[in-house]
Amino acid sequence: MRTLTVLGATGSVGASTLDLVRRNRDQWRVVALTANCNVEELAALAREFGAAIAVVADESCLPALREALSGTGIETAGGAEALVDAASREADVTVAAIVGCAGLAPTMAAIEQGRTVALANKEALVSAGEVMTAAVAKHGAILLPVDSEHNAIFQCLAGNRIEDVRRITLTASGGPLRTWSQARLDAATPAEAVAHPNWDMGAKISVDSATMMNKGLEFIEAHHLFAVGLEKIGIVVHPQSVIHSMVEYRDGSTLAQLGPSDMRVPIASCLAWPGRMDTPMDPLDLAAIGSLTFEAPDEVRFPATRLAREAAQAGGAAPAVLNAANEIAVAAFLAGKIAFTRIAVTVERTLDRSLPSAPQTLDDVLAVDAEARAWAGALLETT
Ligand code: NDP
Repeated sequence: MRTLTVLGATGSVGASTLDLVRRNRDQWRVVALTANCNVEELAALAREFGAAIAVVADESCLPALREALSGTGIETAGGAEALVDAASREADVTVAAIVGCAGLAPTMAAIEQGRTVALANKEALVSAGEVMTAAVAKHGAILLPVDSEHNAIFQCLAGNRIEDVRRITLTASGGPLRTWSQARLDAATPAEAVAHPNWDMGAKISVDSATMMNKGLEFIEAHHLFAVGLEKIGIVVHPQSVIHSMVEYRDGSTLAQLGPSDMRVPIASCLAWPGRMDTPMDPLDLAAIGSLTFEAPDEVRFPATRLAREAAQAGGAAPAVLNAANEIAVAAFLAGKIAFTRIAVTVERTLDRSLPSAPQTLDDVLAVDAEARAWAGALLETT
């Protein structure tokens, strides 16, 4: 029996994680489940899995959670500090699946306790960068990548030496708007942008897929997870999402990981690591898929990967600013306030400001994040 905490239990990755746990109930005991304010779903999950504690990040939602769980013996808590406390509790595996930089402090709390963290929350690593990787090293934590691309790379690197890697190639589906003209992209609606052809995901990452910022964030994420140098990380568009990423070695061999477009595959790889576990998906049927195609990214229609690459090259505060501006712009787009193509423009203009100095601590990262959110918000108000 192993213990598990899921930060962001009510989201898409949270649901996929708990689906695997549901199928293996005798192997897991659930410690903490968290949400922002989705009390109904959180309470239902806490009851079903007999969680020790359920936490809402938004403290105003705590009374409703208390009421929903009264008489169950399940502890309840609310607010940012409660989230950090819950993430600090002993657990064999902590799945970090909160969306956005909001997940950074609890993820760091688990890392500082030296836990095994299955990381889906890419924005946290992009923003904190070396602050997070240094904490992993200092506290002897283990970071297992949940993101399907990084999980693929992690698997392709197993048993090999990082010095032998010639190139890492992240695959990108290209998202639902991949073939759209610039004029059509200007008029893309939130419903069109979240209608991903291959993956069923939360709204924010779905928009990131449509702008290609998801791949930009993953480029930075890969740089922190795998010590190969930025110049050795590339991106190729692969619309079928069958190959989840590849590692090429100096002898010319390229190892790829293939699988169904279902997050339960990489999540299972993390939950069972270093072993393997069953998943309920149909085996990959390559004959039915027929063909796998590849194309170079178009950074004119989709500038986000260029912006992310430049932010990674600049280092320091730039990745945190990129991420914060993107979060603000995506939220404005989803709220119907700005056009789809304004997302990348807002990120670029925010990065054009003179950037704060490189963050050295978690508080520094959170300060940069807050400042960049204010800048991006002001840009959206005034332009
Ligand atoms: P969802 O939007 O589906 O879920 C987000 C989760 O985070 C929910 O539990 C939500 O709670 C919680 N949450 C939202 N805002 C806050 C906040 N301010 N404080 C604390 N908790 C909050 O997201 P996804 O599951 O799609 O994505 C989660 C993370 O995983 C993201 O970083 C994403 O990039 C990454 N990822 C996702 C993949 C996917 O297939 N979905 C694939 C690879 C990576 P509530 O329900 O109450 O709002």
